[in-house]
Order: sequence, then C-alpha cells, then structure tokens
Amino acid sequence: MKITDVKTFVVGNPWKNWIFVQLHTDEGLTGLGEATGGLSSKPNLGDVEELKTHVIGEDPRHPDRLWQKMYKSRFANYSTGMSGIELACWDILGKSLGVPVWQLLGGKHRDQLRVYANGWYQGPRDPVFFAEEAARLVERGYTALKFDPFGGAHRAIDRRSEKLSIDIIRAVREAVGPEVDLCIEAHDRFTVTHAIRIGKAIAEYTPMWLETPVHSSDVAATIEVAKAIAPVPVAVGERYKRMGMFVDLLASKVVDIVQPEVLGLGMANTKKVCGIAEAAEALVACHQAQSPLCTAINAHIHASIGNFLIHENFDDSLEPWTWDVLQGTPRVKDGYLPVPNEPGWGVAFNEKEAAKHPYGEKNFLRLFEEGWETRKSK
Ligand SMILES: [Mg+2]
Repeated sequence: MKITDVKTFVVGNPWKNWIFVQLHTDEGLTGLGEATGGLSSKPNLGDVEELKTHVIGEDPRHPDRLWQKMYKSRFANYSTGMSGIELACWDILGKSLGVPVWQLLGGKHRDQLRVYANGWYQGPRDPVFFAEEAARLVERGYTALKFDPFGGAHRAIDRRSEKLSIDIIRAVREAVGPEVDLCIEAHDRFTVTHAIRIGKAIAEYTPMWLETPVHSSDVAATIEVAKAIAPVPVAVGERYKRMGMFVDLLASKVVDIVQPEVLGLGMANTKKVCGIAEAAEALVACHQAQSPLCTAINAHIHASIGNFLIHENFDDSLEPWTWDVLQGTPRVKDGYLPVPNEPGWGVAFNEKEAAKHPYGEKNFLRLFEEGWETRKSK
C-alpha cells in the first residue's frame, strides 16, 4: 500500500480553527489525522504541504517509521504537521486490519474513561456564573471539572484579580461539594513566586491539580513550584515538544501527573511517554483541546495504558454542527466516555458539512486578554 495524496481541510470552530489531514492510498483506503495549530493555522497548513514530498509513495502501515523519516528530514524536530500525517497513518493501519487503534496498542484496560469537562465557563468572570455552570455539569453526571479563573494574567496577577480568582474557586467548590475533582488551569501564566503564592492559596479547596503554573518550557521552574505547593499536585506536559522533557520532569520525583499532547508528539511517541510515566510511577491525563477527533484519538491511547488518570473533554461546550462534521466520535454520558470499537479511530469526516464552516481569521483564543473565557471570535 502506498500513500498517493495528502489533503488538508480547515474547519472554522469559533475559538480555534481545526485542521484535518486526510491521507489517500492506492488501495482506496483513507486515513484521518489532525494538525490544529491554535494560533498558527496557516503555518501548520504549510507544514503539512511541505511534508508531502517525504510522504507520498510511503506505506502508511508503518506510522512510527514514517514519523522517524519526517523527524530526520526536519533535522530532528517535531511538528504538528508530522503528527497529523502520522495520526492518519494509524487510522489507515487500523482500517486495513479491521481493528480499533487501541487493539494495535496492546489491547484495552477499560471500556469507559472518566472525563473532566473543560470549556464550560463561556461567560462572565464571575463567581456566581462559574458556580451555576459547574453545578449544571455535575447534575449531568460529571465528576471532575477544569477551569482557568485567572483572567488575562501574565507573569504577575494584581491583588484584585487574584482575590477574584480565589473567590471563583471557592464558589465552584461550594457549588459542587467535596467529592467533585477540580482541576485549576493556569495556562503558563505566572512567575515562580506568583505561582507558589497562588498554589498555597488554593490548597484549602483541594484541587486535583494546578496545571502549568509557570511557562511550560521551564522544567526546573515547574519542579520548584511543585515542591513548594505540595500537597497540591502540579500537572504539565501539553506543550512538551520532545519526549526527553518528560524524562527530565519525572526524574524530579515531585511531579507525577503528565499531560502529553498527541498533536505535539505524534501517536507513537505519546504512547512512549505513557511508558516513561509508568516507569516513574506517574499518571497520564493526555491533553485535549482540539477537535473531537482528538477526543477519539486520546480515547484509544487512554484505553490502552495502565496509568490512565482522567480524560479531557469539551463535548458539552462545542457547536451543534460539530457532530455532523465528525461522525462517529464517542460522546460523554454520565461523566464517562465510551472507548470506540470501530476500525481505526472510528471517526468519519464529512467534507460537505465541513465546507459550511470555513477558516475564520478571528477564530483564535487570546488567553492573555481579559474576557477570553467567552471563547467567542471577535
Ligand atoms: Mg492546559
């Protein structure tokens, strides 16, 4: 089997343009991957385009080998375009054998994945609003929620905004009771000292974790914060673009929750990171802030690992048309996501429906501007 063409599609989700990669083969099978770039849609489209020359003519049934070829062609760099192509290869491999991808990863540990909801606070940065929305999700069956209460803070946070952030966390905790897990997202916002102050202030609300409190690329700073704010756990990893960063992080023995991002690392490498984490007695909660195709992809990974912690999901905060574009994606029910059992990822891309939602030049999340929580394009 040979790859004959590589196509890309942009779908204009209001807060992030989604990029899909479709591989075609001489045997008629197609595979679906994703190369969504957040703030870099057009660079990622160019990335995939330029990789074509390394990919066309290759057998897609050897995804890791093809990834290694692209990696070497880029002077040993990772890229989202490489991941998008590699992911589509896994889809083809599964389809060619008639098995779900989790089967190719060694089988599954579970049929259901515990989920935390994200993207649910699309409104005012107000404790009452956050509390009401959180309670609504818990009523729907969610047992864990993630939110970023810190507004547009970058490096520092002023006293008024810090107090408001803590008030939001307290209001959510009071609304959902002691048994629901709260994941506090910090989006790389703070300096080490600000992060430590915040981490200590939120301890009484017993968060499941404080996520990326300092710049993700600074492993040493992350470790300093994690040591200082224990027992509040720190979770990190979504922006790690190299497997070795997880080795450096986990060697510290103070961080034990990692969040690899499949679009940053590729599928084979994400599975390897799960192994690196397992060797360090650490837990995995893969990052997922892309389209629901990545929800399905992460479900295959999470099903196949022994050190799974929890699954990130935006299902209840997406546009209704999403499910017409991506057909067959698993959907959350009572706080759990069923593991897909169809061949490949089990997701079909509907080009006709996708064409109704073109690229939007304002479809970007501005995390360091006040009001970003609304996730509205502006
Ligand atoms: Mg995050």
